[in-house]
Amino acid sequence: MKLKIQARAKINWTLDVVGVLPNGYHDLDMLMQSVTLCDQMTIEDADALTLSVRGAGGFVPADESNLVLRAAQALREHTGCEKGAAMTLRKYIPVAAGMGGGSSDAAAALKGLNVLWGLGLSDDELEKIGLTIGADVPFCIRGGLQRAQGVGERLTPVPLKRPLYLVAFQPCRGLSTKEVFTSLHEDGIREEDRPKTEAAQRALQNGDVRLLGRSLGNVLEPVSRRLRPDIDKAIRDIEASGAVGARMTGSGSAVFGVYLHAGVCRKAAQELQKTYPACRMMRTAECGVVIEQI
Ligand code: ATP
Repeated sequence: MKLKIQARAKINWTLDVVGVLPNGYHDLDMLMQSVTLCDQMTIEDADALTLSVRGAGGFVPADESNLVLRAAQALREHTGCEKGAAMTLRKYIPVAAGMGGGSSDAAAALKGLNVLWGLGLSDDELEKIGLTIGADVPFCIRGGLQRAQGVGERLTPVPLKRPLYLVAFQPCRGLSTKEVFTSLHEDGIREEDRPKTEAAQRALQNGDVRLLGRSLGNVLEPVSRRLRPDIDKAIRDIEASGAVGARMTGSGSAVFGVYLHAGVCRKAAQELQKTYPACRMMRTAECGVVIEQI
């Protein structure tokens, strides 16, 4: 059997830190959204477990530190399955961008190998295994639009009224999530930087894109902007291109903008590409992983 898999990126409509969990991790409150931008994977039957990686300019390791191989290994340990798989990964999602690239690849590996190896695990079980790989992996397994709380593993689906059109790109070098959270301790959070999460959720449910634009927010943005000033300029350029809202996603360094109509978004993407060649137009997606047998 050979499977072709789309591992979709995510953006954060909102990201708030609302406290500290008993284990010392940040207690988060986020509205997370799958988008159509994706990495492409193939997996097929083989004796050994192997991975080859293309794209990403050598920034993504192909050894056992790759989240795809870590996910495959975790699935083997959980089930006792000793089968192999030949896996290829072509990266299109920017790396260390806050777009969940590695997490989405791990989710794609878990869902794909569950089919290839005939394991019959439920998404709930895959999410539990995924959480041992990374906090965003359970979201990437479920996908769509979710309110994500705790470290990101407590997921509540939110119905999205209608598809929305976005641009996203990484205007500068990547940022490590750890570095950003460490700097947040030093900088602290100002109340005015918090997102209006309830209003944003209502706006998404009602298809009120203008209210959504006003309600977006990410408490990590001031820290990341300080570490990478290019983020600030990119957000202002997206706003000037006709977006109703523009923000950084996750811990950065990628930024996104949301538009009222597909046509306005397409024109904005073409214009922004003159300054930011990596700028891509995309749409909200209903799931995080798409599997097709070829
Ligand atoms: P998140 O949004 O989940 O916080 P991110 O988008 O900020 O993640 P990733 O692109 O997932 O960050 O990559 C972070 C680091 O993880 C990279 O620098 C890379 O070395 C490592 N990594 C391991 N496996 C992968 C993978 N399959 N794709 C991308 N990066 C990977």
